[in-house]
Amino acid sequence: MSRWEHRHIIDLSTFSKDDYTTVLELANRFKALPNSGSRKLPALQGRLVTTLFFEPSTRTRSSFELAAKRLSADVQSFSPSTSSLSKGETAIDTALTYIAMGSDLLIIRHSSTNVPEQLANYLEENDEKVSILNAGDGIHSHPSQALLDLYTLTKYFNPINPLPDAIKGKNIVIVGDILHSRVARSNIWALTACEANVVLCGPSTLLPDEFEKFVDKPPPGQKLDPIHKRGQIIIKRSIKDAFSDADAIMTLRLQKERMRENLLTDLDQYHHDYGITHSNLKWCTKPVPILHPGPVNRGIEISSSVLEDNSISLINEQVKNGIPVRMALIYLLATQN
Ligand code: ASP
Repeated sequence: MSRWEHRHIIDLSTFSKDDYTTVLELANRFKALPNSGSRKLPALQGRLVTTLFFEPSTRTRSSFELAAKRLSADVQSFSPSTSSLSKGETAIDTALTYIAMGSDLLIIRHSSTNVPEQLANYLEENDEKVSILNAGDGIHSHPSQALLDLYTLTKYFNPINPLPDAIKGKNIVIVGDILHSRVARSNIWALTACEANVVLCGPSTLLPDEFEKFVDKPPPGQKLDPIHKRGQIIIKRSIKDAFSDADAIMTLRLQKERMRENLLTDLDQYHHDYGITHSNLKWCTKPVPILHPGPVNRGIEISSSVLEDNSISLINEQVKNGIPVRMALIYLLATQN
C-alpha cells in the first residue's frame, strides 16, 4: 500500500492512481472479512467519528455509520431537525461544536456546494488535526459514492484483482440528469483516472456540451491534475448511440430538488428516450451490468423489471460494497491524526 497523503477527502480531482489503488486494495481486504460472527475490527477503538448530514440520506449515512462501527470507532450522529440549526447556528459552528467534543473525523453532507471544503480550510488555518470526509455537497462532489461505484465495476470486470486497470479502455455510459449530479461528476474524475472512457448520455437540458471538457483542467484552486493520462469523455444524445459500445451503464435519478427550473415536462417521454428498460437495452451489443446510486425513481430513469433483474443489476452490490469502501476511507483518514 502506498503512502496516504490526504488529511481530507473533498473531491476526487485530487486523487492519484496510487490513491485509487490504495482505496480499492483496502476495501477488498475489508470485503473479505467473514460475513458472520464478530465482524468488528479493533482498528479505531477510542476514535470518534461524527456524521453531520444537513441533507437527507438513506444509504450513505447508514453505510458510513456501519463502516465506522465495524472498525470499532465511537459514532456520533447529528440530525438537523432536532439541532440548534433551527435556532440560527451555521453549519460551520455546528461542526466546530462536534470537534470541541473530540471528534477525529467529520463526515459531512450539505445541500450547498463547498461547505465541506470551507470547513476543511478553516481547520487547516487553525491547525486542527481533524479530518473532513465529504458525503455529498450540492451538485459538486460525492467521493465515497464514486469510489464504491469504481470498486463495484473493477470487481465486476476482475473479481480476483479489482484494481484500476480492470476498467482501462472500457466504455462506461452514464445516462440521465448529469447536470445536477455530484455522483456523475465524481465518477467522471474516478473513471477517467483509471483510463476508462466515460460516455455521457442525456438531453442538452440535463447534459450541457461543456461536460466534454470536464477534466481538461483541474477545478479552480487546484494547480495540477495528478493523473497524466485520462480516459476520454464522449457525449451522446441518444441511448442507441451510447449503448452500442457500452461495457457498463450507470443511470441517475432526476434530481428535482437541485433543479432551478422544471427542465422536463414529459416524464413518459423521458422514460421512453433515456430510461433503462429491457427494450432500450436491445441497443447494447453485449450483456452489460446496470448501476444506479439510489434512491431510484421506478418507471422514470429505470424500469422496475430492470431494477429487479439480478442477472444485470449491480445495484445491491453497490449498496453492499459501500460498507468496505467507506471502512477504507474512514480508516485512511482516522489513523493518520
Ligand atoms: N444519493 C445520491 C446523492 O446523494 C444520488 C441522488 O441523490 O440521486 O447524490
